[in-house]
Amino acid sequence: MSDRKNVFLFYNNTDVTEDQINNLKDLGRSYGFRLVQNAEDANIIASIGGDGAFLQAIRKTHFRDDCLYVGLNNKHLGFYTDFDINDLEHIEAGLQSDTLEVLRYPTIEVTVDGVQSFQCLNECSIRSNIIKTFAIDVYIDDIYFETFRGDGMVVSTPTGSTAYNKSLRGAIVDPKLKSMQLTEIASLNNNEYRTLGSPLILSGERELVLKIVQDGNDYPIIGADNEALSIRHSHEVRIKLSEKVIKTIKMKDNLFIHKVKRSFL
Ligand code: NAP
Ligand code: MN
Repeated sequence: MSDRKNVFLFYNNTDVTEDQINNLKDLGRSYGFRLVQNAEDANIIASIGGDGAFLQAIRKTHFRDDCLYVGLNNKHLGFYTDFDINDLEHIEAGLQSDTLEVLRYPTIEVTVDGVQSFQCLNECSIRSNIIKTFAIDVYIDDIYFETFRGDGMVVSTPTGSTAYNKSLRGAIVDPKLKSMQLTEIASLNNNEYRTLGSPLILSGERELVLKIVQDGNDYPIIGADNEALSIRHSHEVRIKLSEKVIKTIKMKDNLFIHKVKRSFL
């Protein structure tokens, strides 16, 4: 990695002070890192902020698989942010020794109506954009599974399992498990409509197809992590595990189990 030291910093000016940035720059420079002004020239893309900033950095730089993404937090340690911008000593210790480990996080690939394709690191959510419920026919590997009626559905990655998915009572999934999880947002369940009613974890080899029932309420809001696709008429959303992963580094002593424990217990 020694010759791959071009760093692009991704942050919102209101989230960080100039002093914080300068201290970080000085530390980086003393270890031979160079700051670049264009993300295209970077081998390392570092976000400063929370998990939301990390998700945004990846989306804005188009999920590069030839880059290392690093999450620096400025408030509390998150799931994607392993380094505290106010604790440069700890960052320096990481640079000096082999306490860093490269992780590869699975992402999902979403295709809307066979054309528009994008990746997600947390989840893809599909929600009714009006007060009325809407309906989705769910297919797994092209086999009809169920017809959902309610507010919407969420398909999350393992690392996204601790986010929106968890609020929907989905399971927390070990990021080493190549899989995706389908959860419901307020499904109707009565003698007319019936859905599984529990989260469903699928192997990374499966493909999910969500067909939006064309009954008038067929302009859902489709969310890719923390961004919404502009509302448009949609028929079919195809979701599978992507062959592309997000490479990131973490401290060896900050395991997934530590993160879950720190955040929720
Ligand atoms: P936000 O609405 O500002 O914050 C959502 C919260 O989720 C923040 O505390 C964020 O952490 C945290 N978060 C993000 N990714 C996470 C992960 N993988 N595991 C655990 N916590 C995570 O939005 P945002 O910060 O831009 O994050 C976008 C995410 O919010 C979406 O991808 C979705 O998962 C989640 N979300 C949740 C709900 C819900 O639970 N009802 C509804 C909509 C969206 P930071 O404070 O460190 O940024
Ligand atoms: Mn946030």
